[in-house]
Amino acid sequence: GFTKHTKQECLDIAIVGGGLVGSLAALHMAKKGHKVSLYEYREDIRTAELVIGRSINLALSVRGRKALKEVGLEDKLLEHGIAMYARMIHNTDGTRNAIPYDRRNHQAIYSVGRKYLNEVLLTAAEKYPNINLNFNKKMVGGKVDKGEVTFIDTTNEEKKNIFADLIIGCDGAFSSVRREMLKRNGFNYSQTYIEHGYLELCIPPAADGGFQMPENYLHIWPRGKFMMIALPNQDRTWTVTLFMPFENFDSIKSSEELLKFFEIYFPDAIPLIGKERLVKDFFKIPAQHLIAVKCRPYHISSKCVLIGDAGHAVVPFYGQGMNAGFEDCSILTELFNKYGSDLEKILTEFSETRWIDAHAVCDLAMYNYIEMRDLVNKKSFLMRKALDDFLHWIAPSYWVPLYSSVSFTCMPYKKCIENREWQDRVLNKIFTVCSFIGVSSCLLGAIHLYNTYNTMEELSFN
Ligand code: FAD
Repeated sequence: GFTKHTKQECLDIAIVGGGLVGSLAALHMAKKGHKVSLYEYREDIRTAELVIGRSINLALSVRGRKALKEVGLEDKLLEHGIAMYARMIHNTDGTRNAIPYDRRNHQAIYSVGRKYLNEVLLTAAEKYPNINLNFNKKMVGGKVDKGEVTFIDTTNEEKKNIFADLIIGCDGAFSSVRREMLKRNGFNYSQTYIEHGYLELCIPPAADGGFQMPENYLHIWPRGKFMMIALPNQDRTWTVTLFMPFENFDSIKSSEELLKFFEIYFPDAIPLIGKERLVKDFFKIPAQHLIAVKCRPYHISSKCVLIGDAGHAVVPFYGQGMNAGFEDCSILTELFNKYGSDLEKILTEFSETRWIDAHAVCDLAMYNYIEMRDLVNKKSFLMRKALDDFLHWIAPSYWVPLYSSVSFTCMPYKKCIENREWQDRVLNKIFTVCSFIGVSSCLLGAIHLYNTYNTMEELSFN
């Protein structure tokens, strides 16, 4: 036989961005024995008084859980998270109906606080002697293909260059690392702003301190062109997010117009949020934009790679952005296991394989917005869901519905889409056959009636 030689050496790794993906990536790399320096633009989130950021809570699903488990943090986060086993659909007449995510195995997605999650990851990182955390460090440039990054210390404006064997860009959808890569040949990039924005509102706890709505659900108010959702928080509040075209946001200019709009579309939410709070929160900040980003490749030379939103920001409708970013960490770890510290091989394989799934989840997320805001209300959707559930129930490993494959398995995203495509083909065939049988039985029925009639006529003639 032959022996496999993999380069094994301790690398100097610089991580740019200490958000969710950056702090998890630090743990993954440190666990492999590398020396990690993390640079985050903001102050330490654990001591910051007010954190202005995107969504207050997020849905954590299986891919994210796996990557957390690999650094021993899954249980801690699940203990804190609130399981959501079903969508709870709110209709305009005040009625509600639940649609389980996974009727067969009762699996759930978990609502976790963004700040809590980031804090847990940073605190875990601090315990590693080979991780060095640096806050208030803003990347402003650098020759990333040479492993060089320039930071400014935001507390004293001091500029400093650092050098590393590998730079991992985890600095989010508006990545500075990516901006440097854009200047190099052979780097493809596209960004799309959707015409819908989002705005966050809050449902406070009930008078007795409990939740105002059943908590183990992701609540959805689907209204065709727009929708509102609510995810539970540990403190018994709900983070409510209204997604809507900007032109609709712009058309609401006064508190009267806002309340009228809510009375028409979300009447049951008014007493839950409270009129005063609704008006205050709605006009506090303008609706935020949503961006999707695709890149290919994710690396440049053997010195720099993008992961998380920096490489593939997606719209939030599948609850997969963070999960996909966490999955990047798992994949990098696997490649380090496979190739030791041979960065050329690791980064090349990461780029060659990951884009397919990252682009796929980007498309899936766009699709799910239509499903969430519109289709969930349609009979055809509920019929398909029932059929999917039934087939999943009789052939669990063969027939995995799209939502389950995305949220409850680590099946590559592209495969999830392909799976759905052959399932659609099978169902179409079944429908064709059924309608043929339907038509045939109608024909047979008609022939039978005709024959009976003729026989009767014959009888009456005789
Ligand atoms: P970020 O969270 O953006 O972190 C980037 C970090 O880099 C920040 O800390 C930033 O300060 C730092 N940084 C930026 N520039 C620099 C610089 N120049 N120098 C140094 N540091 C820098 N995903 C889910 O999986 N489930 C959900 O339910 C979900 N819901 C969402 C709801 C909304 C409304 C939105 C907008 C997104 C949602 N997402 C969800 C997506 C999720 O928020 C992102 O995918 C996730 O935050 C990506 O993490 P990240 O670390 O790559 O980027």
